Amino acid sequence: MAVQQVFPLSCVVQHYAWGKMGSNSEVARLLAGSDPQARISEDKPYAELWMGSHPRGDAKILDNCISQKTLGQWIAENQDCLGSKVKDTFNGKLPFLFKVLSVETALSIQAHPNKELAEKLHLQAPQHYPDANHKPEMAIALTSFQGLCGFRPIEEIVTFLTKVPEFRFLIGDNAATQLKQSMNSDSQSVASALQSCFSHLMKSEKKVVVEQLNLLVKRISQQVAAGNNMEDIYGDLLLQLHQQYPGDIGCFAIYFLNLLALKPGEAMFLEANVPHAYLKGDCVECMACSDNTVRAGLTPKFIDVPTLCEMLSYIPSKDRLFLPTQSLEDPYLSIYDPPVPDFTVMRMEVPGSITEYKVLAVDSASIVLVVQGRVTASSPTVQTPIPLQRGGVLFIGANESVSLKLTAPDDLLMFRACCLL
Ligand SMILES: [Zn+2]
Repeated sequence: MAVQQVFPLSCVVQHYAWGKMGSNSEVARLLAGSDPQARISEDKPYAELWMGSHPRGDAKILDNCISQKTLGQWIAENQDCLGSKVKDTFNGKLPFLFKVLSVETALSIQAHPNKELAEKLHLQAPQHYPDANHKPEMAIALTSFQGLCGFRPIEEIVTFLTKVPEFRFLIGDNAATQLKQSMNSDSQSVASALQSCFSHLMKSEKKVVVEQLNLLVKRISQQVAAGNNMEDIYGDLLLQLHQQYPGDIGCFAIYFLNLLALKPGEAMFLEANVPHAYLKGDCVECMACSDNTVRAGLTPKFIDVPTLCEMLSYIPSKDRLFLPTQSLEDPYLSIYDPPVPDFTVMRMEVPGSITEYKVLAVDSASIVLVVQGRVTASSPTVQTPIPLQRGGVLFIGANESVSLKLTAPDDLLMFRACCLL
């Protein structure tokens, strides 16, 4: 009998403080969906579900016939499950970590270094940069999801410099004027003017930041109390972030970065050096295995200002939505394939009128999450079909074809992470 290549997983929940509480959290709801025994504490945040083999959250294997306890152990002893190219390229390790996030309070504004910079930073300061890998990330909304991503078009930033004098004060007149003048110039002048503005903000004295932020908060609050709409300068968002992170430099970042409101199924891709932050909502996220993060605000943690200001891509752009492509072989399959080798995410939306659905075999280990619907999964190496429902997570070895029988009339919604080299 061939080694069993398909099995269900029990995944690790991270209770970070920024997560949504109890059953408000999609992470908690998925957990309760897959395991009726699971007790959800309403006074506890359920921030992240980790679906992978990361040492700080290695998934447990839910199959008594398999001797290994965790996915990490199993992969270490069954290297061929990764797929031949993946195994060689990523030294016998699963190259990605797949997650569900439920965000209640904003996560820090951050960027991740590219490979070259990651190696350098790790060598120079391993206490802040724990590995030598890059960390591209992709977030796909499960519910309406709000985030900041990449620099806004220059015209928008220039408008904020006029409308928000507190912001302009921190940037200074010289840098602000330089930015305005760069508008009709080449991309290099734009980048250098933008870098100068952003650096001025980040290098502002803490005391001055707090003063200006207090002035802005007071002004917005008074205007709102008087019945005036302050949405042209994102009054509500500014107050909300200031409440979460009083006096934090990152509150001003909303005037530099695009504010994205993703609808379910819409995605953003965070390539190296793009500043970003998740503000609110639930999403699936896939990332390369790394912990390298350079922070830029909305955080009490260490901010490496020189590295941050040096590394960012100062490329203004309005269009930050990452669009999936429709599979030509499978009408129910959308593929989110970012320009990095480490991972690809697939979304499968199968109408409840279909009774059987085949999950395409790929030359990569993959992890499937059922968000909605009910199925039984069978494959050539599985003896008894595996029942899966909302919140169920399935590991599939490379080149294994899996057939799903829909056992309820509900539409089926699943996400799958893999590595297509
Ligand atoms: Zn990030």
